[in-house]
Amino acid sequence: MVAKILDGEALAKEFLNELSPIIKNLREKEMPPRLVSIRANDNKGSESYAKMQEKHCGECGVDFLLENLPADSTEEQILNCIESHNHNPLTSAIMLHMPLPKGVDSSKLTAAISPLKDAEGMHPANLGNLLFDADPIPGPCTALSAVKLALKAANDDVKGKNVVVVGRSQIVGRPAALMMMEKHATVTVAHSRTQNMTEVTKSADILIVATGAVTFRWSAYRKALAAWHKGEGDKPEKCDLSYLITSDMVKKGAIVIDVGVNRIPVSIDEDGEPARNKETGKIKLTTVGDVDYEAVKEVAGIITSPKGGVGPVTNAMLIRNTVFAAKKIAGI
Ligand code: NDP
Repeated sequence: MVAKILDGEALAKEFLNELSPIIKNLREKEMPPRLVSIRANDNKGSESYAKMQEKHCGECGVDFLLENLPADSTEEQILNCIESHNHNPLTSAIMLHMPLPKGVDSSKLTAAISPLKDAEGMHPANLGNLLFDADPIPGPCTALSAVKLALKAANDDVKGKNVVVVGRSQIVGRPAALMMMEKHATVTVAHSRTQNMTEVTKSADILIVATGAVTFRWSAYRKALAAWHKGEGDKPEKCDLSYLITSDMVKKGAIVIDVGVNRIPVSIDEDGEPARNKETGKIKLTTVGDVDYEAVKEVAGIITSPKGGVGPVTNAMLIRNTVFAAKKIAGI
C-alpha cells in the first residue's frame, strides 16, 4: 500500500479563499489588515522568513511591516516597539521573530503583545482558550496547521481515535494535543523521555510528529566535534542522522503528519566529519522532516509530504489570525 499524500498547499488555498472576501471588505472600508513582524536579530533564517512573510502577505492582500530592530536591542526597546503597535490602529497583528537578543525574556514579550493582536496565537490568554475551543482564533499557527491537516485526512471525525503527538512544546505539541482532545480523540503525548517509543507510536491511528530531534542530535555533535578539534574533550561518537520515525514505528493505514524541520549535513564520513562544499568549505546542509517519508509512505494510509505539507497551512493560519484581528478592530 502506498499512502495518499495530504496536500497542504491545497488546504491552505481553501482557507485563504475563505478569507479573501473579508480582506476585500476591510480594504474597501480603508481598514486593511496589517501584520507587523518584529525582528531583533541578524539570523539568516529569520531574515528569509520575514521576506517570505512579506511576499505571502502581499499575495493575500494583507499589508506587511517589518520592524527591523538592532540585534543587540534591549528588552525595553523591543517592549516599546510592541507597545507602540498595540496602540497603533493601523496594526492588526504583531509577531515576534526568534531568536531574541541574549538576556531578553521571550515569555515576557509574548505576553506584552495585546491578546487581540496576537498573530501567532501564543499569548497566555489565547493559549488558555485552547481548554475550551478546538479551533481558536487567534490560535497557535503550527499546531492548528497539524490539527487541520489531520482532520482533513480523517474527514473531520477523530472521535475515539488514538492520536499520538510526539513533541510537547508550547508552540506545537501541547496545543495540538489539547485541540485533538477537544475533538474527542484519545490523546497520548510522547517526548524525549518517553519509553518504548515504537509501542507508543504504533498505537496511533493519527500520528503527529513535531520534534526536530535530528537537529538536536546534530547540534550537540557539532559542538562536541568543534571542541575536540580545539583539543578539548574526547572525540564524539559519529552523529546519528537517521529519522526519528521509521516505517516500523507506524501502524498500517495510519494518518501521519510530519511537522519537523531539520537542517542537517547531507552526510558524515567515516572519520565523523560532515560533508563540505569543496570550494567554500561550508558544510553541505539538507532539510529533512522527523519522519522517514519514503519508507513510511509505504505503510501509512495518508501522509503529509515533506514539501507542501504543514508549512503552507501554518502560513495560512498566520494570515487568518491577522485578518480576524483586523475584523475585530474594525468592529465588523
Ligand atoms: P521544541 O524544540 O520547542 O520542542 C521539541 C519537542 O520534541 C520537545 O517536546 C522534545 O521533548 C521533543 N523531542 C526532542 N527530541 C526527541 C526525541 N528524540 N524523541 C522524542 N521527542 C523528542 O520544538 P518545536 O515544537 O518548536 O518544533 C518542533 C519541530 O517542528 C521542529 O523541527 C521545528 O523546526 C518544526 N516546526 C515546523 C513548523 C512548520 O510550519 N512546518 C513551524 C514550527 C516548527 P522534551 O520536551 O522532552 O525536551
